[in-house]
Parts: sequence; C-alpha cells; structure tokens
Amino acid sequence: MLVNEASFFSVENSGCNGQFNYQVDDVVNDFKGKKVWITGHRGMLGSAMVRSMADSGAYLLMTSRVELDLLDRDAVMDWLHANQPEFVFHIGAKVGGIFANATLPADFLFENLSIQSNVIDGAYRAGVRKLLFVASNCTYPTNASQPIAEDALLTGPLDGNIRAYAVSKIAGIEMCRAYRRQHGSDFVSIIPPNLYGPGDNYHPQHSHVVAGILRRAHEAKMAGVKELVVWGDGTPRRELLHVDDLANAMKFIMATDAEHDLYNVGCGHDMAISQIASIIAEVTGFTGAIEYDHSKPNGTMRKLLDNTRVSSLGWKPAISERDGLAGAYRDFLARHAAEAGTDASAGTAAGGH
Ligand code: GDP
Repeated sequence: MLVNEASFFSVENSGCNGQFNYQVDDVVNDFKGKKVWITGHRGMLGSAMVRSMADSGAYLLMTSRVELDLLDRDAVMDWLHANQPEFVFHIGAKVGGIFANATLPADFLFENLSIQSNVIDGAYRAGVRKLLFVASNCTYPTNASQPIAEDALLTGPLDGNIRAYAVSKIAGIEMCRAYRRQHGSDFVSIIPPNLYGPGDNYHPQHSHVVAGILRRAHEAKMAGVKELVVWGDGTPRRELLHVDDLANAMKFIMATDAEHDLYNVGCGHDMAISQIASIIAEVTGFTGAIEYDHSKPNGTMRKLLDNTRVSSLGWKPAISERDGLAGAYRDFLARHAAEAGTDASAGTAAGGH
C-alpha cells in the first residue's frame, strides 16, 4: 500500500486556462491528517484524483491490484478494518468504450457488481465517514429529456450496447442510497459525462471516444493516410469533461455538505461527434478527410447532463475542450505514441496552452 502525505487542503482552484477561481464557502470535511482511500488510483480518473488531493494534507491510501484484489470480499473487509480510512473515493471499476461494452457485457456486470458491493458494504462496516461512488452518464434512459436531471434515473430504457455496465452502475447508485436510508451513511454518487485527459486508455478497440479518435488521428497523420475513420455517423452528441475537472469536483463534493445522494458533474454543453473529431484533427495536426464507419454503433444520440445541483454548490469546470484535448494529445505523445507503432518524437501537439 502506498501512503502519501499531502499538504493542506486548498480551496482555490485555478483552472488550466486560468479564467476562474472558485471558493468553497462551506468546508465541512477538512482532509488534513485524515486517511483517504482512492480505489483505482492507477487509472485515468484515479490518478487525477491523486493529483487533485496532493495539496489536501490527507494521507492518501492507494492499493494496487496485487496488494488488494477488490473482487475479494474478505480481503477488502480485512483491509478496511485494518486501515480505517475516513474518506473513500471509489473509482476502481472495469471500464471501457462502447465496443468493449457491447462485446464483454458479462465481465462488466460481474466485476463491477462485485467490486462496488465489497467496497461500499465494507466502507459501511468499517465506519467510513463519507464515500463518493463514480457512476456513468450511460445510466440514464436513452429517451431522457435533455439536459438530463438526476431524477431521470430509472425512468426509461437503456442503450442496449452498454446496458450491462449501466445496470452495474445503477446498482452502485442504489446501494449508496440504500445505505444512506437504512444506516445514515454519507455515501454520494457522481455521474460524469464522457471523460478524457492524461492517463487515458488508447486501446484500438476498447478505448472511449476521445482516446479512440485521438489515436487514429495521430496514426493517420504519421502514416500519411488521407482519411481519419470515426465510428458511427458523427451525429450523436457528447458532453466532454477533462478528468482533472472531475477530480476537482469530487474533492469539492467530498469537502462540502452535499445534501443530495446523486450529482451530475458535467461542463454544461455538448458537441456532435463530428465536431469533436474536427477539434481532435486540429490538435493532432491531421489535415485529411474525416470518414464515418457506419458499421460501428452510434449509441445514445444525446446525453447532456443537467448541472444545476453541482453548480448550486459553487463548482464549475475550468478546462476548455480545445485546451484539454491539446493536453491529452501531449500526454499521448509522451506515453503511448511509440506503442501505437509510430515515432513519438515526430509528432507535435498543436494549439492549447
Ligand atoms: P464511449 O465509447 O464510452 O466513449 O462512449 P459512448 O457510449 O458515449 O459512445 C461514443 C460515441 O462516439 C458513439 O457515438 C461512437 O460511435 C462514437 N465514436 C466515434 N469514434 C469512436 C471511437 O474511436 N471510439 C469510441 N469508443 N467511440 C467512437
């Protein structure tokens, strides 16, 4: 287990474009000297959470899969009783893009139900003071009216490609609610939109939309190919959020007296996949044509989140898509371009800060 001692909780967040600062008026949970467990700390959101908490003064508890298998109920219970974290950011989960979800539904359902049951029930039994559970925007019905408010949950059918994963996440939200109602546990769920940023998974088939398009744009540019292939027909709309913005929102919600059991955390607007692909082409320097692969699923046509609840707490995102996507490409060049079969040193990120 890794234990990091970070410095005092800072209530000021200057975003990467430096355009706004927010102030937490009502800090009820000060992390200084407290034990905070971040599950899934090696993933994209988990590592952003570690970055966000670095100035909090907390002792960050981080467990690798070898040290603690979250699928092993007894091991999770023993670990929680032995380590007694006060706060838990439950981020560790089996995640993947629309194609991975369509092809591996049993894995997504079984692993996520098991992991979250172990962590959430274990947190209750070990007396954790507050837990945040990360769900997904695919939990909302495909026919929900836009922007989607939190109370749209469980009011209609789900997209068939990602239903198994969505059901696992709905079960997690309901579990937090049930422990709140029955035991008075301060367990809160978060629904982010489509996430991207440093530490993303660039798997050719299993990645999420931004990572998938970014990788193919880079490969097309490096190979001198004139077409960038984007899945679906380009018309579905998606709301993007930089992972550092989500981590900061989660720190904010953990620190404040959040009255609700579920918060959407989005940027407040969405774009067509075709627009997202154009920005990615721009930041990667791909200048050819964008083609659409109609054999791949479009998924839900729109899933814009209603941000009213989290906005009323005083949180706002700080990173624009263009800056964030340029930063994501720099991260890709630094960490993955060589694996993607191209020469990283030959690529340069365009735009951004
Ligand atoms: P994700 O796959 O988890 O990012 O999420 P969604 O369920 O929100 O669907 C992604 C949308 O982006 C769908 O309309 C896809 O057809 C489209 N898309 C376009 N290119 C890609 C790609 O390379 N990877 C992924 N995952 N989606 C893509």
